[in-house]
Amino acid sequence: MFDTLSDRLSGIFTKLRGKGRLTDADIDATAREIRMALLEADVALPVVKGFIANVKERARGSEVSEALNPAQQIIKIVNDELINVLGGEGRRLQFAKNPPTVIMLAGLQGSGKTTLAGKLARWLKGQGHQPLLVAADLQRPNAVGQLQVLGGRAGVEVYAPAPGNGVGDPVQVARDSIEHAKRAARDIVIVDTAGRLGIDAEMMQQAANIRDAVQPDEVIFVIDAMVGQDAVRTAEAFRDGVGITGVVLSKLDGDARGGAALSVREVTGQPILFASTGEKLEDFDVFHPDRMASRILG
Ligand code: GDP
Repeated sequence: MFDTLSDRLSGIFTKLRGKGRLTDADIDATAREIRMALLEADVALPVVKGFIANVKERARGSEVSEALNPAQQIIKIVNDELINVLGGEGRRLQFAKNPPTVIMLAGLQGSGKTTLAGKLARWLKGQGHQPLLVAADLQRPNAVGQLQVLGGRAGVEVYAPAPGNGVGDPVQVARDSIEHAKRAARDIVIVDTAGRLGIDAEMMQQAANIRDAVQPDEVIFVIDAMVGQDAVRTAEAFRDGVGITGVVLSKLDGDARGGAALSVREVTGQPILFASTGEKLEDFDVFHPDRMASRILG
């Protein structure tokens, strides 16, 4: 992930080494190159525009430390702007005042929702919580079975419709799971919902119905970072159709160009809460904008 962008940026910074002072022309040329590098990495255009405007403004201003040489100054500004687009300080999961905290997962089929449900459950359990996983994805064959396997690995109970009862109603399953969580003294409920390969009205409506039934404290949109510009459009559709409160980037271990990761915070207006970096349950961590920025800058 980000390999090409990292290489491009380091090439741009190298050219500034040895310069005593940056002229406006130097700043403009550097900004243009950074712009190209971001666009080629599939970063959404409005995000690129804001990013470049900030870089230029700060590079021209005198706020950056005199102790840094021009190349270091630009690196510092780009680093700060990367942290900024990735969410600044970051935000942590919000818990309900009166448990259970309800976390609903939404996203396209294949985005990594079910895997994330298992990861989140394992992580929360490690923090001393008593999570309940809820199989409300009744669309994809075997999503329920997959969640049961993941729950088994994480040592977390899975609430699922009884087998042999036909397809079942995911809204009802989700609603009943909250009652079950209260009875079983679970303090967090993680609801896995159905995705489709593309966005459709019926799917969005079902997600909205589940949301209304469970009144989630967090609606987490899972975005496959490999998908590029499409991921951003999908994020907008979920923001408008279901209302999301946070984002999880999945498949950050892949060799995508990284544009989705850099765009989604700004496009959705919601923070990136976690990052998923592999198929195993432990390939998962809280998202740190500053660490991601350092990784991009190499
Ligand atoms: P869902 O349809 O949204 O529930 O997606 P799944 O959780 O079933 O994930 C789809 C595929 O992506 C599965 O083969 C997962 O093992 C894989 N997957 C999920 N998260 C990651 C990740 O962070 N990295 C990689 N490499 N694969 C992942």
